[in-house]
Amino acid sequence: MQAIERLIAEDAGGRGIGPLVQWGQLGAAARALLHAPRVVIVSGFFIPAAMAGETDGPPGALALQQALAALGSEVVQLTDARNRPLLAALAVRPLYTAWAEVLAGGSPTHLLGVERPGRAADGRYYNMRGLDISATTEPLDEPFLAAGRDGRVTVGIADGGNEIGMGCVADLVRRHVPQGQRIASVVPADHLIVAGVSNWGCYGLAGALSLLSGRDLLPSAQAAADAVTRIVAAGAVDGQTWRNEATVDGLPLAKSLSVLESIRRCIAG
Ligand code: ZN
Ligand code: ZN
Repeated sequence: MQAIERLIAEDAGGRGIGPLVQWGQLGAAARALLHAPRVVIVSGFFIPAAMAGETDGPPGALALQQALAALGSEVVQLTDARNRPLLAALAVRPLYTAWAEVLAGGSPTHLLGVERPGRAADGRYYNMRGLDISATTEPLDEPFLAAGRDGRVTVGIADGGNEIGMGCVADLVRRHVPQGQRIASVVPADHLIVAGVSNWGCYGLAGALSLLSGRDLLPSAQAAADAVTRIVAAGAVDGQTWRNEATVDGLPLAKSLSVLESIRRCIAG
């Protein structure tokens, strides 16, 4: 478990996330999700300058949905209309674009935020460059803010400081991340998984669930690669370069696949 946690925490993009990593939370999140009855995964990070969603998030969300479904959980996904084409390109089902639709299908027990904007202290949403993206960001972090009251368990998977879950370490984000004072999300989660790339955090969590269940719940390298190329074909852009190409956070796809296969070696023992 610790080896997986180290793999996904690699700061390959040099974003200074090292001090944010919450060691032990990967296993804690996996234990919390192992017998989760009804899970909602929220993802999709829209980049207004490119008028497209980014490649980090939906591929990881798909991998987690499949891992949790294999363990018997009912898993639905939630995103906004702007990011919907990417998740639709992954044939994600059920796929909702409003919290009310999720509730209409049954009350979730667990909420999982994957590379999803979380509001800052001023109530606005920011990208890593400190630009205000509130006009193109639906408040899908709201259910996380109400989760304690509603008795739901929450998990955040994030890599920058401006996403759902980072409220757990907002002070560290303010201190260690460029633009941290402005962008630090105040939306917390019961368990926060900080990763070098959020998709890796998802692969790591699927790996942790594999360890706990004794089954390989990871996507194949081919499936993981296909997920990225399919959303790129649907218009997704790299969150760092804003280019419509099959890279994630400025890193070649091969790097993500190498992390995935290293996780697979950890679960093989
Ligand atoms: Zn991010
Ligand atoms: Zn990312």
